[in-house]
Amino acid sequence: MAMSFAALAGFVVGALAVLFYRNQIEAPNRAAATDGVETGAALPQGVASVLAVLPSSAVVLDAHDRVLRASSAARAFGLVKGDRLMAAELLALARQVRRDGEIRESEIDVAGHKFGQETTNFAVRVAPLGSYGQVLVLAEDQTERRRVEAVRRDFVANVSHELKTPVGAMSLLAETIQDAADDPEAVSRFAGRMQLEAARLNYLIQDLITLSRIQGAEPIPTPGQVSIDEAVQDAIDHCNTRASAKDITLVTGGTEGLRIWGDDELLVTALRNLIDNAVAYSPEHTRVVVSVRPAGDSVEISVSDQGIGIPEEALERIFERFFRVDAARSRATGGTGLGLAIVKHVAAAHAGEVSVWSKEGSGSTFTLRLPAFGGTAVAVPPSIPLEAAK
Ligand code: ADP
Repeated sequence: MAMSFAALAGFVVGALAVLFYRNQIEAPNRAAATDGVETGAALPQGVASVLAVLPSSAVVLDAHDRVLRASSAARAFGLVKGDRLMAAELLALARQVRRDGEIRESEIDVAGHKFGQETTNFAVRVAPLGSYGQVLVLAEDQTERRRVEAVRRDFVANVSHELKTPVGAMSLLAETIQDAADDPEAVSRFAGRMQLEAARLNYLIQDLITLSRIQGAEPIPTPGQVSIDEAVQDAIDHCNTRASAKDITLVTGGTEGLRIWGDDELLVTALRNLIDNAVAYSPEHTRVVVSVRPAGDSVEISVSDQGIGIPEEALERIFERFFRVDAARSRATGGTGLGLAIVKHVAAAHAGEVSVWSKEGSGSTFTLRLPAFGGTAVAVPPSIPLEAAK
């Protein structure tokens, strides 16, 4: 993006220079400014139309630092008020450019001009415009790009940290095994723990792949009719072993025969994550209920548990990547910290949403709300195959 702004800015500066040169030949003594500001030198012909189509903020200053022309973006961002350039840093840059004729690039922060508005970060390019001391200022708002970059940096740092933990543990375990070579019982115990760490690494990589697949906000590649009953059953089958190990009963209920339009694998992945969590964060001998119901033009699938619940202050953060209420507990249960982020993106990819209700000590209910196939949630009798039921 920075490159494209630089390229665009370069092109505009070049184009304006040509326009100016032609203008000098055609009308060297033009006197009045096109926008009514008396400046002694008018805006070169054609410059105004080029500036009008620019998406970025563009300002032309005259030899006395007065604004000859400003795009509406420049005014909206508060860079220009009346015939004055408001950012002192930008004005200083414009003066330097006027003095030595050198094109300059920089980054500046401009305080929000409305109450409560944050600072805007601009990539700016300032160039001389002809021989009347006019200066062209182009400024591109890059606040959003900066924010996205920061999120990406954080994510890479988090991923590296998460990868380092199991890899470090595996390396330590390998050393320990070497030292315990003459103790077969210890070797077997440490080898078992190494396998656990390898499995953890594998889950993390799998989750990262799933997340990167759905995160691009691209449409689902091969959507189709998805039977909710089948998706729920697949997810339950997958979680059964972990549930039985804690004597947790998995129960299904609600309306059968509902369908959505989407990707069955992604839906199963989302449900599996919700059921896995319900099992992981519940004590032994409890119940996890998965229930399905039509809700207007959507289908609601909820997963309820009688587990530890989530503190209220953490509720709005649990869908963030790598956020855990209790990192040690998540690690003990083999969690990657990505499960709910995946659920959120799967819901979004289906134009749906996920919500949570929870009470500490009582349990949690996660609800996926997805648009029903065909616009209304109608049950299809199980005897009719999906393809025939259009
Ligand atoms: P993890 O792999 O750590 O389970 P998730 O993204 O699936 O990561 O969940 C994020 C955090 O939300 C968990 O670490 C846990 O603290 C909390 N959480 C998720 N589901 C439940 C639940 N059913 N009951 C209690 N806490 C939950």
